[in-house]
This record gives sequence, structure tokens and C-alpha cells, in this order.
Amino acid sequence: MNTLAERRAGPCELCGSTAGVAPFAVPPRRPADPDACAAICDVCRTQVENKSPLNQDHLRCLAESLWHPAPAVQVLSWRLLNRLKSAPWARDLLQSVDLDDSVLRWAADEQVDDGTDDPVAPTLDSNGNPLAAGDSVTLIKDLVVKGGGFTAKRGTLVKNIALTANPAHVEGRINGTVIVLVAAFLKKAT
Ligand SMILES: [Zn+2]
Repeated sequence: MNTLAERRAGPCELCGSTAGVAPFAVPPRRPADPDACAAICDVCRTQVENKSPLNQDHLRCLAESLWHPAPAVQVLSWRLLNRLKSAPWARDLLQSVDLDDSVLRWAADEQVDDGTDDPVAPTLDSNGNPLAAGDSVTLIKDLVVKGGGFTAKRGTLVKNIALTANPAHVEGRINGTVIVLVAAFLKKAT
């Protein structure tokens, strides 16, 4: 991958625009870490920082940027798509992409920061439905359980989940092991 200096001299890594491209440190990483930065334009920055209403026409670029080789760009794309997921095209993209687990955890982590501003932030599943303690959910992607020595397959039913202090995470028991699950990869079972 190119250095950050090379990347910031190039087009916006989200939309391809060449106007006003600057490095953007993707939270919650430290800005000193170049891998934590994406080079994005002014328009994309206002979208990322939630300073202007989401512009679906502009953000169609996420269909490409979601597959960018830089994890920081994948994280920004994934988060924006999550904010857009009432739109079918955004939801389809989120369900078609297969990001690295470390990228997904990073992407889901932002919601921790949001949580400090809003202590009652709801825990939402992949469709934006609120989850409550005791709910049953299914996994929408395969989950490698490190330490458990097994992979929980997509579609696995997890009964009687518990909420955590972090609205991005719930806890559930799979194969007798209590596991922290990323709420965005769950679907509430009816
Ligand atoms: Zn842009």
C-alpha cells in the first residue's frame, strides 16, 4: 500500500474526488498511526463526521470504497453504510462484503464513543431492530471463536442473550461458551 503522504496526494479514497483531500484519523485509533488514516475529501468528511445530512447520491461511492485495501477506508465505508442501512442498496452491500474480523471490530467500536454521549443508546441488530436481554438471535456471518476452537456458522441460533455496557456488543452462549457477539452481525429471531 502507498504511504499516507502518497495517498493524501491522490484522490479521495471514498469517492475519488480530488478536491480538498486530507488525512482523516479514523476513531478510535490514534492519528499518529498512518494505518488508522484514510485520505478523504471535504464532502466525504462532512458525511463521516455527521456534519451534513447523508447524501445518498454521493455515498453510492461506498459500493467501491468498501473493497478498498486500506482497513481505515473499509471502516469508514462500513460505518457510513450502517447509517444508511434503511436503504436497500446499503443493506445489500453490508451483507455482501466479507471484511476481516479485526476490521469489523474496529468498525463496530465507534459506537462505544457514541455511547458515552448517550448512555441509553439502544443495542441494534443488523436490521436496526432493538435487542433486549433474553432475546434469541441468529448469526448473519460465520464467527471464528478464538479460544473455543470452533467456528459458529452463519444461521446459528443463540438463545437468551445478555446486553453489555457497550451497545455494539451482546453476550451469548454457543457450544457452552459465553461469547461477546457484535450486534451488527446478528439478526433478531422471531
Ligand atoms: Zn470523497
